[in-house]
Amino acid sequence: MDKQILVTRSSMPPYEEYIEAIKPLWDTHWITNMGKYHQQLEDELKVYLKVPEISLIVNGHMALELAIQSFDLPEGSEVITTPFTFISTTHAIVRNRLSPVFCDVKLSDGTIDENGIESLITPRTAAIVPVHVYGNICNIEEIQRIADKYGLKVIYDAAHAFGVEYKGKGIGAYGDASIFSFHATKVFNTIEGGAITFTGRKMYEKLYNLKNFGIRGEELVAEVGANAKMNEFCAIMGLCNLKHTQEAVASRKKIHDLYMDLLKDIKGIEFFSDRNEGSRNYAYFPILVTEEFGASRDEVYDRLKENNIFSRKYFYPITSDQACFKNKYRSLDLKTARKLSGLVLTLPIYEGMSGEEPERITRVIKETGDLL
Ligand SMILES: *Cc1c(COP(=O)(O)O)cnc(C)c1O
Repeated sequence: MDKQILVTRSSMPPYEEYIEAIKPLWDTHWITNMGKYHQQLEDELKVYLKVPEISLIVNGHMALELAIQSFDLPEGSEVITTPFTFISTTHAIVRNRLSPVFCDVKLSDGTIDENGIESLITPRTAAIVPVHVYGNICNIEEIQRIADKYGLKVIYDAAHAFGVEYKGKGIGAYGDASIFSFHATKVFNTIEGGAITFTGRKMYEKLYNLKNFGIRGEELVAEVGANAKMNEFCAIMGLCNLKHTQEAVASRKKIHDLYMDLLKDIKGIEFFSDRNEGSRNYAYFPILVTEEFGASRDEVYDRLKENNIFSRKYFYPITSDQACFKNKYRSLDLKTARKLSGLVLTLPIYEGMSGEEPERITRVIKETGDLL
């Protein structure tokens, strides 16, 4: 059996670098509760991500839950969102006692179809939660125009969009807030972690309370908060990884370009296009196995697996079709989301992947389509 190829592999700093960096913790014994490194990582990420403000959170999911919570939307309000995403997006809305309302997505890039949003708005609509899926940038201008017209909050799930920029600003500088995931499988990781980006110190204080039990003083708890703080070991992992993130993205780009060379002329294999103007982080390599290809997406997935290559049907099924949400919420006809979800396959891509691996993967794909 050929060597196993997993869909991703976590980026890690050199061992000695991390060990050196955590040594001071044995002097101070200050290992969590907004320590020195938590502060330092917030400072560095604010610059790297080109955002006005940032609050570190224990993971991306809690970042989204708390970002939504921070706007105090009336219970039972509706939130227009996309079903073509990781389940976390929909969970975060429902766990805030809000109702997701599903809009379809665009065939070109998989992001929410801005032309469908207005028809879903009712007097109960309070917010829009779009996703920059695979790092593809949503139609920010149009979404903002609609939000302004109807007085809605916009909270972007930017979990896939670390380091992506748009018109000279960080992607996290748009909307009322954005969230990032620093999970081990993402382009930049803090082992587990995440962040909310936004504008204004007032929101910083609000999120500080929400992630720290609502505690405002030794004897004062002023609101109902969670525990969603990032600890110092994770913050230091982030500081170490951040030094190497540009190399990591460059390494991913090489693999991306190689895949494109190998796959671009295969009939029936298609790719998303984006409006990113070159700002990409190469977090994922999604392909669409269309009807013109000689085999189905599932056949390609299975054949890769038989060859010890692990791709992912990311995202299948769409979240609105999952058992916990099915037939519970309003939606548009989700035909494009369902179609994409039946065709998409994300191929292995990670920092330090060798060039031989895309070649081996391409061979198996061609074989499945009877092209060898
Ligand atoms: C990874 C991810 C999340 C959740 O982030 P975690 O850090 O894993 O909690 C949310 N939304 C999307 C689109 C993601 O890919």
